[in-house]
Amino acid sequence: MNIVLFGPPGCGKGTQAKRLQANTGLVQLSTGDMLRAAIASGSEIGNRVKDIMAEGKLVDDETVIAMLSERIDAPDCDKGFILDGFPRTLAQAEALDALLKGKELEINAVVEMTVNDEALIERISGRYSCGNCGAGYHDTFKKPETEGVCDECGGKDFDRRADDNADSVRIRLDAYRNQSAPLLPYYRERGKLIAVNGMAEMDEVEKEIKAVIKTA
Ligand code: AMP
Repeated sequence: MNIVLFGPPGCGKGTQAKRLQANTGLVQLSTGDMLRAAIASGSEIGNRVKDIMAEGKLVDDETVIAMLSERIDAPDCDKGFILDGFPRTLAQAEALDALLKGKELEINAVVEMTVNDEALIERISGRYSCGNCGAGYHDTFKKPETEGVCDECGGKDFDRRADDNADSVRIRLDAYRNQSAPLLPYYRERGKLIAVNGMAEMDEVEKEIKAVIKTA
């Protein structure tokens, strides 16, 4: 089973992909996480994409397709995967189809997570994560139980993403509308698209996605 979680920045793709990975065994493949890891490692790719990502623009297709293609070859992907943040352009969707066809695999379902714009901005502008284990928090919706201490690992350093600021968020939303939203008809025409209400409680969204996975 291979699924795509699709939707604008802040719709909850990463949160849901992590939950599904923890209790379905499918592997989360986040191109955003891969690119942030490249930046943190100081690699050539990381240095090349750093400013583009901080601004909120999309990284070029060639780079992300090559990155994903290599990751999909790893043995842990044999049990199925959840794509989080890929594909984001028509060229990426076509490359993905070709890549999977060569392995006699396919995308079984594309889950569109719908969230209104106001909620997206509110969610993105308050979020941060533990610098040690990556657990996600939010200034309003999910504070650690003890202020300044990660619930999961006890870490005391927290990070905010360089692109979670008002200017970059505006550019990321534009990129979603102009470059990524055209993928909705692409997957609808192929009978793969299923929408879930991303405004619901996290547990409810997870339940809905699991129901989709069962029937796909
Ligand atoms: P995300 O973590 O999915 O919100 O992605 C953060 C940023 O990484 C995006 O705003 C882009 O700059 C870059 N990025 C992640 N995935 C892709 C992709 N599939 N295509 C192009 N750029 C991407």
